[in-house]
Amino acid sequence: MQNNLEGIGFDEVTDNSGTSYTVFRNNLQPRYPAVAFDIVKGYFFLFVTVGAIIFIDYFFHSFWWITIPVSSVLIGYIAAYLALFIHEAGHFNIHPDKKMNDRLATIFLCLPFGLSLKSYRKIHWQHHLHLGTPQDAEVSYFHAPTKLFVLETLTGIHLLRTMMRKEGNDVLTKEQVKQSRMMLLGGTFLHLIILTAAFLTGNWPFAIAWLLGFGIFFPFFATIRQILEHRDELAHYSTDFYKQPHGKVSRLFVHTVLNSSFGSAGFTRHMIHHWDPQISYTRLKDIEAFLSSSEKVAPIIKASKTTYTSVLKKLLAAS
Ligand SMILES: [Zn+2]
Ligand SMILES: [Zn+2]
Repeated sequence: MQNNLEGIGFDEVTDNSGTSYTVFRNNLQPRYPAVAFDIVKGYFFLFVTVGAIIFIDYFFHSFWWITIPVSSVLIGYIAAYLALFIHEAGHFNIHPDKKMNDRLATIFLCLPFGLSLKSYRKIHWQHHLHLGTPQDAEVSYFHAPTKLFVLETLTGIHLLRTMMRKEGNDVLTKEQVKQSRMMLLGGTFLHLIILTAAFLTGNWPFAIAWLLGFGIFFPFFATIRQILEHRDELAHYSTDFYKQPHGKVSRLFVHTVLNSSFGSAGFTRHMIHHWDPQISYTRLKDIEAFLSSSEKVAPIIKASKTTYTSVLKKLLAAS
């Protein structure tokens, strides 16, 4: 069974009442309040975590050796949750006005990650155009989750490699490269302010957890998530997908608290997003219901459903 919908025309898919997807998709307007709520939820949990670290450290300072690792992982996990909404903004789906979409996303989403939205949008579109080929611009899934690769991810080597690839990418205009550097500087500055404030107020366990969360665990979770969405379970760990086509594979994930937070902003339905990238993640559930009632694609939907942990187990067994 193929693990993707790409190549299937919108007109070819009809539900059990005979409505074609081409008609159905016209009514799929984004639910903006839901988007805002999901983003606020991320910031709420981030602030609660930060508050908890400071509180616990104040009363149980000697437990820093456990507070720091646990909160670093939590901060990284929440940062990864929030970062996925940049993707939604990249597809112009967080505000109906395109300019406002980009302004809001730049301040509330891109700045903490040092990303330029316009550059991200352009690079991400290459991912949609060239999924599964060496020309893809988002390439974590080219790597098997081997011990070496996990080490490279946790030490920042993979992040550096990704950033160098972005720098060497001729997709971006000079202006966009400049914007990327400016946003990277802006993001670094924001984190420096946070870290300085933490040190000056004596909250060094929080400062370390923040640094490890954003610097190590956020890229780690983002990288692993992309591998789990796109890497073929049958791919050999030694195949060089920078030279050889990997093939198009995308997955659908069942909705548990873990899957839905790890694959926030609709990434649990990444396969549907690749089929119709313009539709807001708030409507992917409706598309899944539509597709599940189509004789032609229902079996693909059913066969593609999995969990992040079961894909991870299979990929680890193959690497
Ligand atoms: Zn993708
Ligand atoms: Zn996309």
